[in-house]
Amino acid sequence: MDQAYWHGIAEALTFPTLAIIDGRKVPARSGGTFTSVNPATGRAIAEVAACEAADVDDAVAAARRAFEAGVWRNQAPTARKKVLLRLVELMRAELPQLAALESVDMGKLVRDAHGNDIANAIDILQWHAEEADKLYDEVSPLPPGNLAVVRRVPLGVVGAVVPWNFPLNMAIWKCAPALVAGNSVVLKPAEQSPFTALRFGELALEAGVPAGVLNVVPGFGETAGQALGRHMDIDCLAFTGSTSVGKLFLRYSGESNMKQVWLECGGKSPVLVFPDCGNLELAADQVASGIFYNQGQVCSAASRLYVHASLKQRFIDLLVARAERYRPGDPLDPSSGLGAMVDANHASNVMRFVELGRRSAQLVTGGEAATVGGAGSFIEPTIFSDVSPDAAIAREEIFGPVLSVMTFEDESEAIRLANDSIYGLAASIWTDDLSRAHRVSEQVTAGVVAINVVDPVNPAVPFGGFKQSGSGRDLSRHAVEKYTALRSTWIRYRH
Ligand code: NAP
Ligand code: MG
Repeated sequence: MDQAYWHGIAEALTFPTLAIIDGRKVPARSGGTFTSVNPATGRAIAEVAACEAADVDDAVAAARRAFEAGVWRNQAPTARKKVLLRLVELMRAELPQLAALESVDMGKLVRDAHGNDIANAIDILQWHAEEADKLYDEVSPLPPGNLAVVRRVPLGVVGAVVPWNFPLNMAIWKCAPALVAGNSVVLKPAEQSPFTALRFGELALEAGVPAGVLNVVPGFGETAGQALGRHMDIDCLAFTGSTSVGKLFLRYSGESNMKQVWLECGGKSPVLVFPDCGNLELAADQVASGIFYNQGQVCSAASRLYVHASLKQRFIDLLVARAERYRPGDPLDPSSGLGAMVDANHASNVMRFVELGRRSAQLVTGGEAATVGGAGSFIEPTIFSDVSPDAAIAREEIFGPVLSVMTFEDESEAIRLANDSIYGLAASIWTDDLSRAHRVSEQVTAGVVAINVVDPVNPAVPFGGFKQSGSGRDLSRHAVEKYTALRSTWIRYRH
């Protein structure tokens, strides 16, 4: 699978551009569209339906009808599992096309999309599908003559609003457990990356998900996203995206019907490298991929590195050698090291942070915007050292390939620095001392604390944050909890 292969796949793609509402592919009621641009070339790819409040109303009404009719929730769990597993098969059969679709849509390296992101998204869908007939309910411990059956029941209509960095993954992380629980869903992908979510919706219909159960409404955040957040007939809103927009969804809920809101928001994840780290080479490999994978556009990106002062220069040298492997290139060329930033606007936001870094810290490598073949929005892998813990590049989520390196003298300082953030999504600790690993991991405030690995993800392990990184957990059997309520049925009988 070389560059020519992937260009061939990309040129043969058809782009899904219509919303999916009540089992039909439809344009926006207004007829409005927005242009999808390939950020690696700057060229327009397709015009996509720009859904607004009226389209969201249609989608929610269809979702509610499907829920009330019971066409999905009242199917046997095994039947729902079979439909979702059929969807898994349809998606696997299109893996190269889905990977190319995501690559040209938002600049991701096709190699990563094919080998990791899309493949993992489908595996996660399969993991949840297989859960459908393995969810047990509870019986409460009560005195004789009482039976309380505690069942997890679907909430009704779930709204899902997701970002552009892992478009299909984020859609599936929300939709799969919501569907497994028996809900209807209205999904809004990010305006920068609508295609794989729309294809997911089309294939779901083909697999046998009944009309109205999974609706997809591409459009802008301020219109379609806000309409979902404020809708009076949505029971639960699951969001992944920035902390500032996450806060808006809490407000939308409070000003509308008090729908449940689950937020997966930003991060500024620390890596702590202790002097007893047994494999500095491996640590450097993992830190580099932790900050440069997907151009650093990862909520749990390893963006704050704290190394013990005695290791500083050695570790920076290891990182600089690795940064060489992340040279920007054609995202459809499997030998490229780094893809394009999602769009020119985001690239210039990231470059503003790089300029702040130049003024406040030491630039070790990178620091320049780039083009590939004279076009596109690329940024070199960038490392700053001697960063003050108060500097903007140490505190704010940059969402780009920009690493801030800082030092610590002892364990308590390392823990204090790691926790000195409004975020608490992920953390990584490098040590061969088992007691230190446990001791430090207990004190770092993060939803996922990884020892001797950076940012591991598996469908069996919950993912989500503390503090302003959000609430609730995606993945694992706990994900389904967000999309269900407990209904207690209390029976008194003669004993
Ligand atoms: P974003 O700007 O917050 O957008 C996320 C979603 O919200 C998009 O669908 C967006 O639509 C929509 N939106 C934007 N403004 C809105 C508004 N006023 N009302 C309602 N909806 C609105 O985030 P992004 O730039 O796409 O993604 C990057 C962020 O996602 C980062 O902060 C990253 O940390 C976070 N993230 C978190 C996780 C996690 O699991 N914790 C995972 C991945 C990403 P438009 O695209 O049309 O504006
Ligand atoms: Mg956006």
